[in-house]
Amino acid sequence: MGMVEARRAAEAVHFRDEAFGSAEALSQDERAALRQRIQRLLRERNAVLVAHYYTDGDIQELAEASGGMVSDSLEMARFGAEQDAETIVVAGVRFMGETAKILTPEKRVIMPELEATCSLDIGCPADEFTAFCDQHPDRTVVVYANTSAEVKARAHWVVTSSIAVDVVRHLQERGEKILWAPDKHLGDYIRRETGADMVLWDGACVVHEEFKGRELEQLMREHPEAKVLVHPESPRPVIDQADVVGSTTQLLRAVENLSAQTFIVATDNGIFHKMRAIAPNKTFLEAPTAGKSATCRSCAHCPWMAMNGLRNLAGVLERLDNDIHVDPVVAEQARVSLGRMMDFARERQREVLGAGDA
Ligand code: SF4
Repeated sequence: MGMVEARRAAEAVHFRDEAFGSAEALSQDERAALRQRIQRLLRERNAVLVAHYYTDGDIQELAEASGGMVSDSLEMARFGAEQDAETIVVAGVRFMGETAKILTPEKRVIMPELEATCSLDIGCPADEFTAFCDQHPDRTVVVYANTSAEVKARAHWVVTSSIAVDVVRHLQERGEKILWAPDKHLGDYIRRETGADMVLWDGACVVHEEFKGRELEQLMREHPEAKVLVHPESPRPVIDQADVVGSTTQLLRAVENLSAQTFIVATDNGIFHKMRAIAPNKTFLEAPTAGKSATCRSCAHCPWMAMNGLRNLAGVLERLDNDIHVDPVVAEQARVSLGRMMDFARERQREVLGAGDA
């Protein structure tokens, strides 16, 4: 299992969506009725909705309007843990639901679509990852938040993209050598930033890997005034041209803080909803995914994030099923590696922001 399987899985979702239409074809009236129904159900079920920046705009708006939140994966989990609600509804992908469950084992965590996963998670199965770690017993194991609960449990540290460089630099200063998983582009970026001795797992995000360096260069020539915002899961030729490299939350801050009027953005285009809300008068352009080596599924939107829709969100709230379960022993071990990052961030009086995602 590895990148080939992760790509096949993404392709299967892509073709299924093309055949059956995952993007919800809803009229304005249907959308309004579903939004009302979801708000009512959230109240009746004593549930809170937390959504990722890459989900559909309707879901992001609903989360905020109903007292939930829209954020990156770790903030989603932390927010859910702080709420009085009995049930946390996670609109995102599976590892996000698992992280919420790990940090809040006493609460019920449900998701609109349990099959919504992530190529980084698929491409890093726990048994193969454990064997890889066993080959490098002298290395400190640092994993990205976009991993299964089992992989987190095997790691010494879990990090998000916003704090990864700081954590690895800290470990390097202590003389530690690093084993990094699963995203090779993010790992390579951290290695170049810190100069740390790192061995990398061979994983990638199927969305970010599609951004193309040469075509980006061309787009930058057409828009010389634009600032380029890049998520570090992108390939090196794209990162090398960035004005800002950062997590989803850091990229949103750049939109707010930079005076530029135009931005070229290399991350999932779901984030444009929030960027336009923050800066309605600014212009946002997708970094190119077409061009040399582009494939039929080259687009800047995650096929698994797209599985979250108003219909299945209403459905899961009606039925109260699709529970996320994490083995308690695994959860306890994963809490240790997540806890190291949170303590580190607290000590440095920093906020821990931005997985993936993600
Ligand atoms: S966009 Fe995020 S959730 Fe989707 S495959 Fe990439 S890292 Fe995973």
